[in-house]
Amino acid sequence: MSVENSIRLQTIAQLVPSGYRIADIGSDHAYLPTYLVREGIAPVAIAGELNEGPLQMAHRHVDEAGLSQEIAIRQGDGLSVLTPGEVDAIVIAGMGGTLITSILQNDEARLAGVQCLILQPNVAAQSVRRWLYSHGWQLVAERIVKEDGKIYEMMAAEPAQRKENQEPWDPAYDHPQLSQEHLFLVGPLLVRQGGAIFHEKWQGELHKREQALESMMKAKEQEQVMEQLRRFQDEITIIKEVLQCTYGEKQSSNGSRN
Ligand code: SAM
Repeated sequence: MSVENSIRLQTIAQLVPSGYRIADIGSDHAYLPTYLVREGIAPVAIAGELNEGPLQMAHRHVDEAGLSQEIAIRQGDGLSVLTPGEVDAIVIAGMGGTLITSILQNDEARLAGVQCLILQPNVAAQSVRRWLYSHGWQLVAERIVKEDGKIYEMMAAEPAQRKENQEPWDPAYDHPQLSQEHLFLVGPLLVRQGGAIFHEKWQGELHKREQALESMMKAKEQEQVMEQLRRFQDEITIIKEVLQCTYGEKQSSNGSRN
Protein backbone atom coordinates (compact mmCIF):
# COMPACT_ATOMS: atom_id res chain seq x y z
CA MET A 1 0.00 0.00 0.00
CA SER A 2 1.15 3.52 -0.81
CA VAL A 3 -0.52 6.84 -1.51
CA GLU A 4 0.22 6.39 -5.22
CA ASN A 5 -1.85 3.20 -5.46
CA SER A 6 -4.72 4.27 -3.20
CA ILE A 7 -7.37 6.54 -4.67
CA ARG A 8 -8.61 7.15 -1.11
CA LEU A 9 -5.22 8.42 0.14
CA GLN A 10 -4.56 10.32 -3.09
CA THR A 11 -7.87 12.15 -2.78
CA ILE A 12 -7.11 13.03 0.85
CA ALA A 13 -3.67 14.33 -0.23
CA GLN A 14 -5.31 16.51 -2.89
CA LEU A 15 -7.39 18.20 -0.18
CA VAL A 16 -4.27 19.33 1.72
CA PRO A 17 -3.44 22.95 0.86
CA SER A 18 0.09 23.31 -0.49
CA GLY A 19 2.66 24.82 1.87
CA TYR A 20 0.77 23.95 5.07
CA ARG A 21 2.52 22.29 8.03
CA ILE A 22 0.43 19.21 8.64
CA ALA A 23 -0.36 16.69 11.35
CA ASP A 24 -1.71 13.27 10.44
CA ILE A 25 -3.46 11.84 13.49
CA GLY A 26 -3.79 8.05 13.53
CA SER A 27 -1.08 7.94 10.89
CA ASP A 28 -0.43 4.18 11.00
CA HIS A 29 2.54 3.63 8.58
CA ALA A 30 2.87 7.42 8.04
CA TYR A 31 2.23 6.91 4.32
CA LEU A 32 0.36 10.20 3.99
CA PRO A 33 2.85 12.58 5.69
CA THR A 34 5.73 10.86 3.87
CA TYR A 35 3.98 11.44 0.54
CA LEU A 36 3.05 15.06 1.35
CA VAL A 37 6.59 16.01 2.37
CA ARG A 38 8.30 14.02 -0.41
CA GLU A 39 6.07 15.68 -3.03
CA GLY A 40 6.75 19.14 -1.62
CA ILE A 41 3.10 19.68 -0.65
CA ALA A 42 3.93 20.02 3.06
CA PRO A 43 7.25 21.48 4.26
CA VAL A 44 7.10 19.51 7.54
CA ALA A 45 4.71 17.05 9.17
CA ILE A 46 3.81 15.36 12.43
CA ALA A 47 2.61 11.77 12.40
CA GLY A 48 0.56 11.06 15.55
CA GLU A 49 -0.14 7.47 16.48
CA LEU A 50 -1.59 5.82 19.57
CA ASN A 51 -0.41 2.25 19.15
CA GLU A 52 3.06 0.76 19.35
CA GLY A 53 2.90 -1.54 16.28
CA PRO A 54 1.90 1.16 13.76
CA LEU A 55 4.31 3.59 15.45
CA GLN A 56 7.26 1.28 14.69
CA MET A 57 6.08 0.96 11.09
CA ALA A 58 5.87 4.75 10.84
CA HIS A 59 9.48 5.11 12.09
CA ARG A 60 10.67 2.51 9.60
CA HIS A 61 8.86 4.06 6.67
CA VAL A 62 9.96 7.63 7.43
CA ASP A 63 13.60 6.53 7.97
CA GLU A 64 13.58 4.60 4.69
CA ALA A 65 12.30 7.71 2.92
CA GLY A 66 15.13 9.75 4.50
CA LEU A 67 12.62 12.22 5.97
CA SER A 68 13.20 11.90 9.71
CA GLN A 69 14.26 15.57 9.91
CA GLU A 70 11.02 16.79 8.31
CA ILE A 71 8.56 14.32 9.83
CA ALA A 72 8.21 14.05 13.61
CA ILE A 73 6.61 10.82 14.79
CA ARG A 74 4.85 11.17 18.13
CA GLN A 75 3.04 8.58 20.22
CA GLY A 76 -0.14 9.70 21.92
CA ASP A 77 -3.90 9.87 21.95
CA GLY A 78 -5.46 12.07 19.27
CA LEU A 79 -4.52 15.76 19.31
CA SER A 80 -2.56 15.41 22.57
CA VAL A 81 0.63 15.06 20.48
CA LEU A 82 0.25 18.66 19.22
CA THR A 83 1.15 22.02 20.69
CA PRO A 84 -1.31 24.77 19.70
CA GLY A 85 -0.02 26.71 16.68
CA GLU A 86 2.54 24.20 15.41
CA VAL A 87 0.52 22.97 12.40
CA ASP A 88 -1.74 24.63 9.81
CA ALA A 89 -3.74 21.56 8.82
CA ILE A 90 -4.78 18.34 10.51
CA VAL A 91 -5.71 15.11 8.74
CA ILE A 92 -7.68 12.40 10.54
CA ALA A 93 -8.52 9.53 8.20
CA GLY A 94 -9.56 5.91 8.11
CA MET A 95 -11.47 5.82 11.43
CA GLY A 96 -15.14 5.88 12.33
CA GLY A 97 -16.90 9.26 12.43
CA THR A 98 -17.61 8.93 16.14
CA LEU A 99 -13.93 8.41 16.95
CA ILE A 100 -12.95 11.35 14.74
CA THR A 101 -15.41 13.68 16.48
CA SER A 102 -14.28 12.52 19.92
CA ILE A 103 -10.62 13.15 18.97
CA LEU A 104 -11.57 16.71 17.91
CA GLN A 105 -13.84 17.28 20.89
CA ASN A 106 -11.41 15.95 23.53
CA ASP A 107 -8.73 18.51 22.70
CA GLU A 108 -10.51 21.34 20.93
CA ALA A 109 -8.14 23.96 22.39
CA ARG A 110 -5.30 22.45 20.33
CA LEU A 111 -7.15 23.42 17.15
CA ALA A 112 -6.31 27.08 17.80
CA GLY A 113 -4.58 28.48 14.70
CA VAL A 114 -5.42 25.46 12.54
CA GLN A 115 -6.57 26.63 9.10
CA CYS A 116 -7.83 23.37 7.65
CA LEU A 117 -9.18 20.02 8.83
CA ILE A 118 -9.18 17.14 6.37
CA LEU A 119 -11.33 14.29 7.65
CA GLN A 120 -12.17 10.89 6.19
CA PRO A 121 -14.62 8.96 8.33
CA ASN A 122 -15.10 5.32 7.26
CA VAL A 123 -18.63 5.40 8.69
CA ALA A 124 -20.95 7.96 10.34
CA ALA A 125 -19.81 10.93 8.26
CA GLN A 126 -22.96 12.76 9.41
CA SER A 127 -21.67 12.96 12.98
CA VAL A 128 -18.47 14.60 11.69
CA ARG A 129 -20.43 17.15 9.61
CA ARG A 130 -22.68 17.90 12.57
CA TRP A 131 -19.65 18.44 14.84
CA LEU A 132 -17.92 20.72 12.31
CA TYR A 133 -21.06 22.79 11.84
CA SER A 134 -21.72 23.26 15.54
CA HIS A 135 -18.07 24.02 16.35
CA GLY A 136 -17.55 26.84 13.85
CA TRP A 137 -16.04 25.01 10.87
CA GLN A 138 -17.16 25.50 7.30
CA LEU A 139 -17.01 22.76 4.65
CA VAL A 140 -14.92 23.87 1.68
CA ALA A 141 -14.65 20.56 -0.18
CA GLU A 142 -16.14 17.09 -0.11
CA ARG A 143 -15.15 14.06 -2.16
CA ILE A 144 -16.52 10.56 -2.61
CA VAL A 145 -14.41 7.74 -4.08
CA LYS A 146 -14.57 3.98 -4.45
CA GLU A 147 -11.62 1.70 -3.71
CA ASP A 148 -11.65 -2.10 -3.56
CA GLY A 149 -15.45 -2.13 -3.62
CA LYS A 150 -15.79 0.30 -0.67
CA ILE A 151 -17.06 3.85 -0.89
CA TYR A 152 -15.25 6.56 1.09
CA GLU A 153 -16.28 10.14 1.84
CA MET A 154 -13.80 12.85 2.76
CA MET A 155 -14.13 16.52 3.57
CA ALA A 156 -12.04 19.64 4.11
CA ALA A 157 -13.20 22.35 6.50
CA GLU A 158 -11.91 25.80 7.40
CA PRO A 159 -12.83 28.17 10.24
CA ALA A 160 -16.36 29.37 9.39
CA GLN A 161 -17.28 32.81 8.15
CA ARG A 162 -18.89 35.07 10.70
CA LYS A 163 -21.49 37.66 9.84
CA GLU A 164 -21.28 40.73 12.09
CA ASN A 165 -22.00 39.78 15.73
CA GLN A 166 -23.39 36.45 14.65
CA GLU A 167 -22.68 32.80 15.11
CA PRO A 168 -20.26 31.18 12.63
CA TRP A 169 -22.19 30.12 9.58
CA ASP A 170 -21.65 27.61 6.76
CA PRO A 171 -23.30 28.60 3.46
CA ALA A 172 -23.07 24.98 2.26
CA TYR A 173 -26.16 24.24 4.35
CA ASP A 174 -28.34 26.75 2.48
CA HIS A 175 -30.06 24.46 0.01
CA PRO A 176 -33.26 25.24 -1.90
CA GLN A 177 -34.82 21.79 -1.34
CA LEU A 178 -32.98 19.91 1.39
CA SER A 179 -32.98 20.56 5.13
CA GLN A 180 -29.90 20.67 7.32
CA GLU A 181 -30.69 17.13 8.55
CA HIS A 182 -30.73 15.84 4.97
CA LEU A 183 -27.42 17.61 4.31
CA PHE A 184 -25.69 16.31 7.46
CA LEU A 185 -26.54 12.79 6.30
CA VAL A 186 -25.48 12.95 2.65
CA GLY A 187 -23.02 15.88 2.56
CA PRO A 188 -24.03 19.38 1.40
CA LEU A 189 -21.30 19.62 -1.26
CA LEU A 190 -21.51 15.96 -2.32
CA VAL A 191 -25.23 16.29 -2.98
CA ARG A 192 -24.56 19.23 -5.28
CA GLN A 193 -21.84 17.29 -7.15
CA GLY A 194 -24.02 14.17 -7.51
CA GLY A 195 -22.29 11.59 -9.71
CA ALA A 196 -22.34 7.82 -10.08
CA ILE A 197 -20.55 6.92 -6.82
CA PHE A 198 -22.81 9.18 -4.76
CA HIS A 199 -25.89 7.50 -6.26
CA GLU A 200 -24.44 4.04 -5.79
CA LYS A 201 -23.77 4.80 -2.13
CA TRP A 202 -27.26 6.08 -1.40
CA GLN A 203 -29.05 3.41 -3.43
CA GLY A 204 -27.08 0.89 -1.33
CA GLU A 205 -27.89 2.65 1.95
CA LEU A 206 -31.56 2.79 0.97
CA HIS A 207 -31.55 -0.92 0.19
CA LYS A 208 -29.82 -1.78 3.50
CA ARG A 209 -32.38 0.21 5.51
CA GLU A 210 -35.35 -1.23 3.63
CA GLN A 211 -34.09 -4.75 4.28
CA ALA A 212 -33.48 -3.99 7.97
CA LEU A 213 -36.90 -2.39 8.25
CA GLU A 214 -38.51 -5.50 6.86
CA SER A 215 -36.88 -7.72 9.50
CA MET A 216 -37.66 -5.22 12.26
CA MET A 217 -41.31 -5.18 11.29
CA LYS A 218 -41.39 -8.85 12.26
CA ALA A 219 -40.17 -8.05 15.79
CA LYS A 220 -41.84 -4.70 16.28
CA GLU A 221 -43.38 -5.40 19.67
CA GLN A 222 -40.11 -4.39 21.44
CA GLU A 223 -39.89 -0.62 22.15
CA GLN A 224 -36.17 -0.46 21.21
CA VAL A 225 -36.93 -1.99 17.84
CA MET A 226 -39.79 0.49 17.34
CA GLU A 227 -37.42 3.40 17.94
CA GLN A 228 -34.90 2.14 15.40
CA LEU A 229 -37.75 1.45 13.02
CA ARG A 230 -38.93 5.06 13.21
CA ARG A 231 -35.36 6.33 12.64
CA PHE A 232 -34.96 4.11 9.58
CA GLN A 233 -38.32 5.23 8.20
CA ASP A 234 -37.21 8.87 8.56
CA GLU A 235 -33.85 8.17 6.92
CA ILE A 236 -35.52 6.27 4.06
CA THR A 237 -37.68 9.33 3.38
CA ILE A 238 -34.60 11.60 3.50
CA ILE A 239 -32.54 9.39 1.17
CA LYS A 240 -35.43 9.07 -1.32
CA GLU A 241 -35.82 12.85 -1.36
CA VAL A 242 -32.08 13.33 -1.94
CA LEU A 243 -31.99 10.77 -4.75
CA GLN A 244 -35.05 12.37 -6.34
CA CYS A 245 -33.56 15.83 -6.04
CA THR A 246 -30.20 14.82 -7.60
CA TYR A 247 -31.46 12.19 -10.04
CA GLY A 248 -30.03 12.59 -13.52
CA GLU A 249 -27.04 14.69 -12.47
CA LYS A 250 -24.02 13.40 -14.35
CA GLN A 251 -21.28 15.44 -12.76
CA SER A 252 -18.03 13.72 -11.86
CA SER A 253 -17.43 12.82 -8.23
CA ASN A 254 -13.94 14.38 -8.41
CA GLY A 255 -14.95 17.97 -9.05
CA SER A 256 -13.16 21.16 -8.14
CA ARG A 257 -12.36 22.29 -4.56
CA ASN A 258 -16.06 23.01 -3.77
N1 SAM B 1 -4.85 7.32 8.76
C1 SAM B 1 -4.44 6.10 8.08
C2 SAM B 1 -5.22 5.89 6.84
O1 SAM B 1 -6.21 6.61 6.61
O2 SAM B 1 -4.87 4.99 6.06
C3 SAM B 1 -4.54 4.91 9.01
C4 SAM B 1 -5.91 4.50 9.40
S1 SAM B 1 -5.89 3.18 10.54
C5 SAM B 1 -7.28 2.28 10.14
C6 SAM B 1 -6.29 3.99 12.06
C7 SAM B 1 -5.04 4.30 12.88
O3 SAM B 1 -5.42 5.18 13.92
C8 SAM B 1 -4.44 3.08 13.53
O4 SAM B 1 -3.06 3.02 13.24
C9 SAM B 1 -4.71 3.28 15.03
O5 SAM B 1 -3.68 2.74 15.82
C10 SAM B 1 -4.77 4.80 15.12
N2 SAM B 1 -5.57 5.34 16.21
C11 SAM B 1 -6.76 4.89 16.69
N3 SAM B 1 -7.22 5.70 17.67
C12 SAM B 1 -6.30 6.68 17.81
C13 SAM B 1 -6.19 7.81 18.67
N4 SAM B 1 -7.13 8.07 19.58
N5 SAM B 1 -5.11 8.61 18.55
C14 SAM B 1 -4.15 8.35 17.64
N6 SAM B 1 -4.19 7.29 16.81
C15 SAM B 1 -5.25 6.47 16.89
